[in-house]
Order: sequence, then C-alpha cells, then structure tokens
Amino acid sequence: MTGHVLEFLGETKRELGPVGTAEGHWRTGRDAAGVLWLVLDKQDTSTNTISEDVIRELDSHITAAEADLPAAVVIRSAKDAGFAAGADIASFEAMTDDGAVKLLKQAHDVLDRIAALTCPTICIVHGAALGAGFELALACDYRITVAGASFGFPEVQLGLHPGLGGTFRLPALIGATDAMTMMLTGKTAHTKRAKSQGLADVIVEERHAAAAVAAVVDGKIDKHAPSIASRAFGLDQARSLAARQMRKETEKKAPQQHYPAPHALIDLWEDHGDDPDAMQKAEIESFATLLKSDTSQNLRRVFFLRQKLKDAGRGDDDIAHVHVIGAGAMGTEIAAAAAIKGKIVTLGDVETAPLGRAIKKVVQICKDKHLTGIETRDALDRLMPDPKGYGLARADLVIEAATETQDLKEKIYKGLEGKLKKGAILATNTSSLSIDDLAAFAPTQDDFAGLHFFNPVSRIDLVEVIKGTATSDKTAQRLAAFCGAIGKLPVTVANYPGFVVNRALVPYMLEAMVLMDEGVSKEVIDTAALRFGMPMGPVALADQVGLDVGLHVAESLSTSLDKPMPPISDDLRAKVKDGKLGKKSGTGFYDWSDGTPRPDADLDDAPADLTDRLILPMLNACVEILREGVVETEDQIDGAMIFATGWAPFRGGPMHYARTRGINEVTEALKALERDHGPRFAPDEGWSSLA
Ligand code: NAD
Repeated sequence: MTGHVLEFLGETKRELGPVGTAEGHWRTGRDAAGVLWLVLDKQDTSTNTISEDVIRELDSHITAAEADLPAAVVIRSAKDAGFAAGADIASFEAMTDDGAVKLLKQAHDVLDRIAALTCPTICIVHGAALGAGFELALACDYRITVAGASFGFPEVQLGLHPGLGGTFRLPALIGATDAMTMMLTGKTAHTKRAKSQGLADVIVEERHAAAAVAAVVDGKIDKHAPSIASRAFGLDQARSLAARQMRKETEKKAPQQHYPAPHALIDLWEDHGDDPDAMQKAEIESFATLLKSDTSQNLRRVFFLRQKLKDAGRGDDDIAHVHVIGAGAMGTEIAAAAAIKGKIVTLGDVETAPLGRAIKKVVQICKDKHLTGIETRDALDRLMPDPKGYGLARADLVIEAATETQDLKEKIYKGLEGKLKKGAILATNTSSLSIDDLAAFAPTQDDFAGLHFFNPVSRIDLVEVIKGTATSDKTAQRLAAFCGAIGKLPVTVANYPGFVVNRALVPYMLEAMVLMDEGVSKEVIDTAALRFGMPMGPVALADQVGLDVGLHVAESLSTSLDKPMPPISDDLRAKVKDGKLGKKSGTGFYDWSDGTPRPDADLDDAPADLTDRLILPMLNACVEILREGVVETEDQIDGAMIFATGWAPFRGGPMHYARTRGINEVTEALKALERDHGPRFAPDEGWSSLA
C-alpha cells in the first residue's frame, strides 16, 4: 500500500500516511519511502486514551518493526480531539497492587523498545498530548508539532505523578527545572512554549506534516539537544538543594499531608535524578503506591463527578440567542461566557454606565482566558449592548440578573408580558429568592426557572438549574444543555432556600462569625479550615463573596428555613452599614490591600472542636438537602460543592467525607456540638437513613 490517507481535521485535511481502517485501536501501513505509520484511532470513542489494550497492540506493531526495520516510524492520532488525553483512568480502579506494577512494567517495556529502535521515531502531535499520551510522544526521537498542539502532565490533579517514563524522559529532554515545574504544577505547554522548551522539534501546519516527516527521514531536521544547565543536577548536593526549595514551594500550595504525589515526585528526583534506570524502577513503585492512596482515589472520584455533571449537560442545545437583563457583576460575566461560546447575546440595563463597563470587563475576561485577538473580536461582535431591550423579542433564553429584590424582579417580569418569543425561557440568577414566589409573575410559568451562576462565572464551572414547582422538565433539560454548550457543569435542583450550595455554605461562614464573637481570632478560624483542606477560610470567603451579599443570603435563609441557623453577628451588620464590604471595598474582616489573606496561625490554643464546628454544619445541611429531595444523589451534592466552592477535593466531597469518617461518628460529633453550643448543631433526621 503506498497512497496516503487524508482525513478531515476541522477545516484542514489530516495526513495519516498509507493506513487503512483500524484493526483494533491502531491503523497501520508502510509508505513508498518505507516509513511505518502507526495511527491511534481508539475504538468506540472520540478521544484517544492509552489503555492496556492500546499498549498491547502497540507492542505487537513494534515487534513487527524490530523484525523488519522501517525507514522510520511515525506515531500519530486519527482523532479530531487531539493526540491522546492520557491513561484510561477508569481502568485504574481495577488495578490491584501486583497488577499495577506488572502492567506498568509491560507498558514501560514497549516505550523503551520504541526509544531503542535504530530508525528515526517521530510523533506527530495535534491537539493535546497529555499524561501517558505525552509519555508516548517523549519515547520518540522527534516531535513534529501541529500549530495549536499542547503537552502536559495533569497527573498531580489525580493525586499521581507521571508513571510511564515521564519522570526521567522529560528532564532528559528539557532540563530538570522546566520538567519538574511542568510535572509538579500540571500546567500545559502550548505550541510556542513547547518549541522554546525543546518539546517540539518543529512546528508545522497540518498540511506540511508529511513533508516534515520526509525532512526528518532525510536528516534535515536536528533533534533538540538537552540543556547543558541541567547537568549541574547530576550532583547529589545540587539536587538536594533544589529539592528543598521545591518542597517549600509545593508545601504552600499542596501540603504533603493532603497531596502526597508532588512530594513523592520530588523525592524520586532527589534520590534518582542522575540515574534514569533507577528512576524508572522507583517511578513504577511510587506510581503504584500513589494509586492506592486515599487522595488519589478521591481525586479520581472528583474526575468522574465532573464527567457525570458534564453528561448532564450533553442534551440538544437549542438556545441561539440569549438576552441578559442587568449588566452588573453577574450579568456581565454570564453574557461574556455565552458570547465566548458562540451565542448571540444582547445585554440590557436600566442604566447606561454598566453597559460601558460590561464591554471593558468582557475584553478583560477574554484576555484572562488567553483568547486570540480574532476570538476576542468575534466574541465582542456577538455581544450587543441593548439598553432598549430589542433583543427580548428574539431571544430563546432571557436571563434576569438584576438587583436582588423581590419587588424589582416582579416589576421586570410583569414588563415582559407579551414581549418574549413563544417558547422562550425566562431564567433568574437569584441567589436567595424563591423560584416559586417569582414564578407567579413570569409570563409563562412552565418556561420559568432559576439559573444560578456563581461569582466569578469565568472561573466557577458549576451552575444550579433550579426547577420550580411549575417548571417543565423540558425547560430544565434545555437549560442544562445550554450550560453544557457554554462549558459549564449543570446540576438540576429543586427550589429550596439557598438551593444546594448556599444552603450548605452559609452556616460555615456564620459559624465563623459566632466564633469571632466568642473571641477566637479570624486567623485561627481560617487556618483551621485551610488545614482541613478548604480552598479558603470562612472569614476570607465571606469577605470575598461580599459581606452585603452574604448578609442578604443569610437573612433570607434564616427566615425561610425551619431550622435554626447560627445567629447573624452584630459585627457583620455593622461592617455592611459602614460600607466595609470585603474584597470589593478593600476591607471587610480582612484588609485586602496585600491580596487574598491566607493565614497560617498557631492552632495550639484553638478550641478542640473548632474544625467540626465549621465543617459538620455543612455536612448536616447536605443531608437535609438530600432528605428534602432537592437533589437525587449524594454525588450531585459532592460535585456541586466541589465545583462551586472548591470543597476539599482530596476528601472527595462532603458526603463522601461523611461516609469515610463514618455516619455514626459524624452524628455523634454533631450531638456533642449540640450539647455544647445549641440546637443549630442537632443532627438532621436524614442521617438515620444513611447509616
Ligand atoms: P449588581 O448590583 O452588580 O448588578 C445589578 C444590575 O442590574 C445593575 O447594573 C443595575 O443597574 C441593573 N438593574 C437594576 N434594575 C434593573 C432593571 N429594571 N432592568 C435592567 N437592569 C436593572 O448585582 P449582581 O451582583 O450582578 O447580582 C445580580 C443577580 O445575581 C442578583 O439576583 C444576585 O442575587 C445574583 N447573584 C449574585 C452573585 C454575586 O456574588 N454577586 C452570585 C450569584 C448570583
């Protein structure tokens, strides 16, 4: 077979060499120049992952190449989605101790044999080459990189480090400093950076991929030479010194107690950074140990929770035009999110000044998201300030994000009567008002729902789709699909005070204020929460949310729930009255002039039950939410709390934490708190059905 196969990749044609259809996961063929093309086209999926059977089949193709050496070997992907997204994470769950080591050794053996082939080995990378996909690319002599490609090791986010040779092949290629940074942070190197670091030997447009292969075979492209600077790390003392610094930096962001993987990686490098063979053996052992750690199991759980929420947003999205009412903090960000993802957006407000500010803010959001100039221009073209509300009649979805008062929202909805397109959805972004109370004023009740985005929308993926009593299933499904289409994670919840996330989070912040009234310092309180693994202490969080917003939600919850909440502190009310609103006004409980407060206080004299007083009320609220049928599953709660608040991911979510700690133990601890501090800690009756 000699003719080359070209397949469509977006608008360009992808060069696949002479391969036919796949037998198994690989499509293979030798071209007229004697180059063997191995094209990964994993069956029954749109994204390549490196699974056990992918490696087994690759093994037999490499055996054939060893027996009849080709002029070169080219490895690439047939998928539009990119080169490979990493190892098959689902298969990790089935790996036993011995099984993991055995499988890793087999996979290492295949990659070692690719690296040892005496003909040139070339990986063509388009899209992302992540984790084990990146490691396969590293085993090749050359990486021909199609513009837009990226390389990365996201393993740390799963409580792991690279396990298929990355720990020694990457430092050998780009030097230890850059390699360790990439592996410790999980950050991706995009095309240009990949070239400057030496990951990419050459960057080409897709149509020149075959010519680049020919140039390599003809010896016209030089292999990247490893950096000389990294030779200094061949000395044990130099590595020890650098490792100490790395540990210090890593501990700040990922404490070893909670996140062992990056620390294990630093240990590996310190011990074996000068000896690739020893590193390989140690990498396999260390990876297999981490695989069993609670942290990795919980972080893999978080990965699957994200997949589940993504699946919930996979329906048919029929929203082409969104009209947003209110160009304040939230309306602007919602409009930006929709316009960036291709929606036509009209943005209205009663004032003109917010509309001007909104456009500037959208430009900033595009910049923060690293959009190109053309992408930014296109997003801005799709987003139109619309002070007169012309877009209302054309919109498929109207999102109301106006000031949070019942009267104002009622007035706005009454004014929409007869103005919306038939079948258009009206959704409110309210944080604290009842969807059922508001529905009474909406033009059509079954097309009305809550769509609760979190601040800042550009960084928080979760959206609560609130299905009021009258909201139709179809409306809720259309909203979930809209969320999916704009890259958000929808969780559909019933109408309930605070919905899911605020219901669980408000007691955390209010209890902190009660503790402050009792004389415990904010630094001690926040340190306890940070050490538990929360991304922010409750006092800093209240400041970040805005003390006025927090007070409003707290007041609303305190009146609408039939359970006791922590009392609202006088100090909070006084601060709001004085305009000390937290981060947005520069001071609240903290002074924000030096950035986000991250205290690290001595907890020796802290109350013994401090952490439980902050954390257990959240768990109690989650159980109440389940019992009330606000969501259907514990996974939905865990996903909502992790993706809206960053709730200690290595613990797998609040419900998972409760189950890990023991339902009985948690209820006993709540009873003890109830005895010592009052009825707000009384265990919810829902615990009994979980035990
Ligand atoms: P904001 O005060 O920043 O913006 C509200 C905007 O609505 C203002 O620009 C105002 O001029 C405009 N507005 C007032 N009356 C209007 C009318 N009749 N028609 C059109 N526009 C009108 O408020 P925000 O923080 O963006 O909050 C908006 C909504 O989002 C509220 O319901 C709030 O509860 C909810 N929310 C806020 C947050 C948050 O953290 N700020 C988070 C989630 C949800």
